[in-house]
Amino acid sequence: MPATPDLPPQVFRQAVEQAALAISITDAKANILYANPAFERVTGYKLAEVLGNNQSMLSYKVTPGLVYESLWAQLARQRAWNGMLVNRRSDGSRYLADLTITPVVGADGKTSHFLGMHRDVTEVHHLERQVQNQKAMIESVVDAAQVAICLLDERDHVVLDNQEYKKLIGDLGREPASTLLTNLRQQMGAGFDLARRRRQAVRHREVKVELAGGGHGQATRWFACALSWFEEQDASADAFYEPTRRHYLLLTAQDITELKRQQEAIRINSLAALLTEQERIQSLRETLAGAVYQLEGPLNTLTAAVRLLERRRGKGEDSAERNECQREDAFDVAIDTALRDSRTALDTLRACIPHQQNEVMQPLNLNEVLRDVLKMATADLLGSGIVVEWYPAAELPPVRGGATQLAATFRHLLANAIEAMNERRVGDQGRERLVRLFTQFHADHVEVILEDTGPGIPAEWRYKVFEPFFTTKGAARGHLGMGLSMAQDTVSRHGGLIDVDPDYAEGCRVRVQFPLGAARDGMPT
Ligand code: FAD
Repeated sequence: MPATPDLPPQVFRQAVEQAALAISITDAKANILYANPAFERVTGYKLAEVLGNNQSMLSYKVTPGLVYESLWAQLARQRAWNGMLVNRRSDGSRYLADLTITPVVGADGKTSHFLGMHRDVTEVHHLERQVQNQKAMIESVVDAAQVAICLLDERDHVVLDNQEYKKLIGDLGREPASTLLTNLRQQMGAGFDLARRRRQAVRHREVKVELAGGGHGQATRWFACALSWFEEQDASADAFYEPTRRHYLLLTAQDITELKRQQEAIRINSLAALLTEQERIQSLRETLAGAVYQLEGPLNTLTAAVRLLERRRGKGEDSAERNECQREDAFDVAIDTALRDSRTALDTLRACIPHQQNEVMQPLNLNEVLRDVLKMATADLLGSGIVVEWYPAAELPPVRGGATQLAATFRHLLANAIEAMNERRVGDQGRERLVRLFTQFHADHVEVILEDTGPGIPAEWRYKVFEPFFTTKGAARGHLGMGLSMAQDTVSRHGGLIDVDPDYAEGCRVRVQFPLGAARDGMPT
């Protein structure tokens, strides 16, 4: 060792004496030859009580033998040893000693002494264990949660997740966090980046995720997502005097697919019930109006005939004719009564026509309207073994319209297609039962095309099918022939056109066109 001429030897002793660490010097067999005041403070033993005793007097005997074996093996190689031992104080209480033993090697190369330095780290250990316990507890709670949870660093890398989240990775086949965050960003727009910049919490946002290659109807999953941020102090040595913070994003996602399905089923059922009721009222209205119209014709003819008769009588008023008129008085009274009663009956019939209610006109995405219509018809389509091919336009501008009126119209057109295909015809065997539904976006209008592989509509009926009371099925089978007439009425009120394509030979193709932004506000249903 190099000489330290400037440092008087007693400084070494004073330094050891005054050190805050418990220091002891032993012989080669660990018998204590010296202990400093800090040793007395930590162990509770007076110097006189320890001198000459083996260091093992501090052992609480719960430290595994293996630890001592490795301690002594290390010292035998004349290397310093550091480790934790459970020590017992003079009052019997225990503490955890963080001990470093350094062999003191003499000029002969042999270990003459050992220098032991230790400090009580019970409190530090207690805190560490507490942190570990809490971490384990939090992890098990997080793992047991029925909600997918993950923690993302500032580069959106997942640094922590739970079992539900891991399951989601398997289900989605990709990193759920990035999918959910992308969808959230699309849904919230600029609000997402603002919330992120300001680290504002985002609560309960419903996010839809489409699964690639999922089964029919099972491909969409819904999650209720929440975001919150938390800060972590950088624990590295560099940041000891210059604290820096790391920010983490906590993403939770609860699978609400089942709830959504139930809500959707309730919505579709309510919509179907509403449409059925409205169809019933509209059909009643159209039927009564048609009946009034049909009765008005003969009544007007009768009225005109009576007037003609009266005029004729007025011309030849001689005595013979007057006698004749008197004989006809009773007949006239009967005719007048019949005419008056008929008009009263017609007025009563008119009064019975249900009032039309205005439906709020709003921008509608026809893809969504048609999707609902298909859902409502699912049972009928499956029951009839009809395959549906649905080709929605990827981009479809909204059309202003009455949601229930349009849904009712398309529901009726689809019901017609199903019914047509259910009619057995000669040569139908082996024919594919198919409904194709398209939406298309043209420069100034949106078009819906509904094709079926049924018997089709003959060319001569192309326009007739839209007339009121025209039916090929007969009133006996519950058909009044008002459906297409009502559909045409609804489409016309939306400023649109409906027709049957005469060039379509595979069955029937109905085309419905709506102009973009032309419908009137508040339309009668
Ligand atoms: P022991 O019978 O003493 O020994 C247990 C095992 O240790 C034996 O199986 C043997 O393989 C090995 N061993 C023991 N003595 C020697 C030796 N001289 N040479 C080679 N191998 C040996 N122990 C504590 O519990 N607390 C302390 O604070 C502590 N401080 C120490 C400070 C110094 C400077 C030194 C040198 C040792 C210290 N020890 C301390 C170790 C202590 O000396 C004992 O080895 C230990 O306490 C185990 O004691 P024991 O009676 O249970 O078993």
